[in-house]
Amino acid sequence: MLLRCLAVASLCLSATFVEAAVPVLVIHGGAGVIKSEMTPDKEKQVRADLEAALKAGNDVLKSGGSSLDAVTKAILVLEDSPQFNAGRGAVFTHEGKNELDSAIMDGATLRAGAIAGVHRVKNPVLLARAVMEKSPHVFLVGDGAEAFAKTVGIELVEPKYFRTEQRWQQLQEALKAERKQQASALGRMIHYGTVGAVALDQAGHLAAATSTGGMTNKRWNRVGDSPVIGAGTYANTRCAVSATGWGEYYIRAVAAHDICARVEYANKPIAQAAKDVVMDVVPKLGGDGGVIALDSDGNFATPFNTDGMYRGWIDRDGKMHVAILGDEGRP
Ligand code: ASP
Repeated sequence: MLLRCLAVASLCLSATFVEAAVPVLVIHGGAGVIKSEMTPDKEKQVRADLEAALKAGNDVLKSGGSSLDAVTKAILVLEDSPQFNAGRGAVFTHEGKNELDSAIMDGATLRAGAIAGVHRVKNPVLLARAVMEKSPHVFLVGDGAEAFAKTVGIELVEPKYFRTEQRWQQLQEALKAERKQQASALGRMIHYGTVGAVALDQAGHLAAATSTGGMTNKRWNRVGDSPVIGAGTYANTRCAVSATGWGEYYIRAVAAHDICARVEYANKPIAQAAKDVVMDVVPKLGGDGGVIALDSDGNFATPFNTDGMYRGWIDRDGKMHVAILGDEGRP
């Protein structure tokens, strides 16, 4: 914890010494890894981008910056990469648009900002953060969110910026399967690629952020869990969580908050709390996916119940770790 006195009785009586927390950063790039679709080339690119995101976030933490800045910086790198379903690489809606959602939360103050259904915001995490810091609101959607973006100088791009061939083909396959009413093929086409980050800074403060294009072939302005505070994104003084997976189920389970509530009220270790929700609560409802979860002592877990989850972390050893499939790496 943040405030500790030295183990010298006389000093303990007279003074309290502030001991900096060892910073920790954990990121994910979605739980939609499909083992059979992973090519060496794709794997190389994904690993390089995860490492770049970890480096960006860790540079902030190492120099004494805030967990909020660290998660923002890490997510910016992942949003700018075409490999993930967020920002540049977002999936397509049924109508062939890219519709982006994001949220950020400051654990120390419980301030939060979220946006959903925007089409022209280059980096949705920056808009979520601006909602938190520069508006009296928590959650803005659609045209209104873009109008707000203009007032605070957030970069807007032409919608074609988000068009990648791979995502376009995924939509075509989904539409074909839908026409043939192939439920099994539709199931195989779910590519969760949301990105997220949780961080603990030297001041002992936690933050969480998530950014996504949602799910391929979504319609009717469907919004998933990622921008919903408590469902896909949550942070308080004890715990920070970012989720990826089938958003409808993560919303119904209020998954991110449930994990933190188990830590706070039931004193569960973070790994147990995260595992219980990801491996038990969500699957019992019919959903799948994963989370990254971090506590204020720097313990963290990355459970998922899909083939794999793009993930990476820099823990107290200061070393960078990146993993993709289920049997790889710790934790
Ligand atoms: N959770 C996201 C959603 O439902 C999808 C993902 O994780 O890729 O919108």
